[in-house]
Amino acid sequence: MPTVTISAKGEARITSGHPWVYRSDVIQVAADGGENVRGQIVQVMGRRKAPLGSAFYSDRSEIALRMLTRGVEPPPADLLRDRIAAAVSYRESLGIDATAYRLVHGEADRLPGLVVDRYGDYLVLQALIQATDRLLPEITPLLEARLRPAGILARNDPRVRLLEGLDQHVEVLAGTVPEAIEVREGRVTYAVDPYKGQKTGLFLDQRENRVAAAAYAHGRALDAFSYNGGFAMALSPVCDEVVAVDISEDAVARIVANVTRNGLANIRAHAMNAFDELRELERRRERFDTIVLDPPAFAKNKAAVAKALSGYKEINLRALKLLNPGGILVTCSCSYNVSEGMFADVLASAAADARAEVAVVEKRMQGRDHPVLVTVPETFYLKCFVLRKL
Ligand code: SAH
Repeated sequence: MPTVTISAKGEARITSGHPWVYRSDVIQVAADGGENVRGQIVQVMGRRKAPLGSAFYSDRSEIALRMLTRGVEPPPADLLRDRIAAAVSYRESLGIDATAYRLVHGEADRLPGLVVDRYGDYLVLQALIQATDRLLPEITPLLEARLRPAGILARNDPRVRLLEGLDQHVEVLAGTVPEAIEVREGRVTYAVDPYKGQKTGLFLDQRENRVAAAAYAHGRALDAFSYNGGFAMALSPVCDEVVAVDISEDAVARIVANVTRNGLANIRAHAMNAFDELRELERRRERFDTIVLDPPAFAKNKAAVAKALSGYKEINLRALKLLNPGGILVTCSCSYNVSEGMFADVLASAAADARAEVAVVEKRMQGRDHPVLVTVPETFYLKCFVLRKL
């Protein structure tokens, strides 16, 4: 194995339980026999030449090392097979009432830089770093052996791949993968486009929050930032009427198609900027009993946090004003740069400005198939509060 020596600061980070070492903490990279270290599994050494463990190495990203194992022992030969098996068995143990969910969630499954989602009989994966990209010829047969999918698609088009010096492309790795896959989530079915849908096709991380929202929903509902109508369809059976809004015409076409396929007569969808829609609904003095706010990540980086907070404040303030007494607001933030505490502060200030008394009914997060590592704050990105207007 090639070795990579890191600084005391890098070592302290690993000791704290974080799996990442930044390039600025790499002191020396030593390939045996002039081997190319790009995307390789390397042995990580502390300054006193003590082996700290093994890691995926990237010669491009600011995150140079992502730890795989800790200690003196080299990584076992069956590491990938064992970690895939553990990740899949964990999902199978969850009793998920859906045919679409995440099987492998990168660092949180000790498989950094690898995402694998199940959509019915198919798998959609993402290799986000040099090492998992290089290892796809090994990973693909392991997934086939464990899961026997009808096809595996690589959605290797996220922008983060550019940070690794990798290209963006979509490719079928095994079998065949259709342009529309039918999946079921609870009582609802979706047609998912694994080639062009957002993320790998669905916002799987919100599955459990959609179920939770339905447990509180009633009366007249608004699903803002609806994408393909996930929350709207979950709320439909327990609400009189659901208004679904998304800025993208393409998303609204998906909502309409999904609503039709499920025969849900009480959902109306239209393309609109949710900020404008909320302002307009307020002007018209419309009222709702249930509102879902699930915007895209407003703070993609630290510099964007202040602006993001004012965006969250605006939509939550307007939503609280639109709610009838006893109404429920299910409000989400998927910006990991906005912590749960910061988000709670925004909600408090929105409630104060709306002159509403508001109770927190539940604090939720991304679904259990997207685990959070206690030592890695970056893995806790999706916050979801269920609020009740008194
Ligand atoms: N709630 C969805 C996921 C929403 S993702 C689910 O459960 O599956 C965020 C969505 O917000 C995207 O579909 C995007 O098109 C939409 N969006 C982004 N900016 C918007 C805006 N200003 N107004 C309305 N929708 C917006």
